[in-house]
Amino acid sequence: MIHSLPPLNEINDYDPNSLTVDKARELIQRYLTPVAEQEEIAIYDALQRVTADNILAPHNVPNHNNSAMDGYAFHSRELISPTVELKVVGNVYAGHPFTQAVASGEAVRIMTGAVIPEGVDTVIMQEHVVREGDSIRFDNKQISVGQNIRLAGEDIKQGAVAVKTGQLITPAHMGLIASLGIPTIKVYRRLKVAFFSTGDELSSVGEALKEGQIYDSNRYSLKGLLTSLPVECKDFGVVRDNPSALKQVFNEASQWADVIISSGGVSVGDADFIKTLMAELGQVVFWKIAMKPGRPLAYGKINHSHFFGLPGNPVAVMVTFYQFVQHALYLLAGQETTTHLPQVRYRLAQPIKKTPGRMEFQRGIVFKDSDNEWRVKVTGNQSSGVLSSMTQANCFIVLSQECGSLNIGDWVEVELFNGIM
Ligand code: AMP
Ligand code: MG
Repeated sequence: MIHSLPPLNEINDYDPNSLTVDKARELIQRYLTPVAEQEEIAIYDALQRVTADNILAPHNVPNHNNSAMDGYAFHSRELISPTVELKVVGNVYAGHPFTQAVASGEAVRIMTGAVIPEGVDTVIMQEHVVREGDSIRFDNKQISVGQNIRLAGEDIKQGAVAVKTGQLITPAHMGLIASLGIPTIKVYRRLKVAFFSTGDELSSVGEALKEGQIYDSNRYSLKGLLTSLPVECKDFGVVRDNPSALKQVFNEASQWADVIISSGGVSVGDADFIKTLMAELGQVVFWKIAMKPGRPLAYGKINHSHFFGLPGNPVAVMVTFYQFVQHALYLLAGQETTTHLPQVRYRLAQPIKKTPGRMEFQRGIVFKDSDNEWRVKVTGNQSSGVLSSMTQANCFIVLSQECGSLNIGDWVEVELFNGIM
């Protein structure tokens, strides 16, 4: 699927200097062409992979009518008098079909999952009968014809599409495909993602800190985020604020990667070379978004790789990755359905200060208040360098560009973290 790209100056309200969050998402989407290469893999190893073909059901699931209860199976024509009495003519276990037909006046004891024998159409729970020797007695009240029977094909019909192409495989899909007896499936190859940090002040974990240095934490949060996604990733380390060193890493990474992610060096400081290099080696689509945190966020191409130049501040890295990069990676990996979770509304447990002009993603905690109502509060210091605010949060409080300060009790939109945070 190739998307033809309109020239950027023809896109409505395109301002590379400060895009709205929605516009930036829309722009990124125009550039995303999913990987094409496929491979056949065992369903046992298919978690977090993306299907490259529809998976059809070779047979009904379940493949025979079976009992949903431990009880007694009989024919509904016996339900004529207020009390029903039947003779038990056998036991039917799961995996051991009953070969005789059940005649009039007869019932069989049946276990959950056992095939419904010929001649019966209804199952009564064992708790609802009185058994004496080889006969049972029960009240003919509140029994409906066909009750407690799982019908062949009620889960999936033979020939139906059990899993669509472009589906991210979850544990439920693994079980469902196994229930069809299918051992291997076609998936897209894993997306290749290169990542690195930039900055003269960065020291790597394991080294001693020199005067004025800080530890590089962004590569670790990025590694953690990428590990939960359907991608293969490669760490290109720390790169100094030096155009030729950056250029070398860009060229090396783009030979291997479908997507390159860097952090730092995209703002307007003297040592921020990323934007210039993007223009030289590929294409700049935008570099600033009207959001907080994450105002400097570059997107474009480095050679043939997609490139996300994330901000340097550790919280901004996580927010921009979560809001833009993860969805782009799922799409590039072949997933066709949206990965955005629905937003929910909660009342604020405390006031929030905000000036209109940028969309904000404040780190929040949804919690059960003393009156048993669920409310949301912010995680203390919201500065984009304070990573502990991220570790305490279980959601983003999403405040629109136009929104100003808010009071206790106001409703706010909340995006609960998905499994990657
Ligand atoms: P920059 O965008 O390169 O100017 O970086 C913005 C801020 O983020 C500065 O305070 C940097 O020291 C900090 N920073 C940049 N990269 C990292 C990193 N990999 N780990 C931790 N902090 C970083
Ligand atoms: Mg820097």
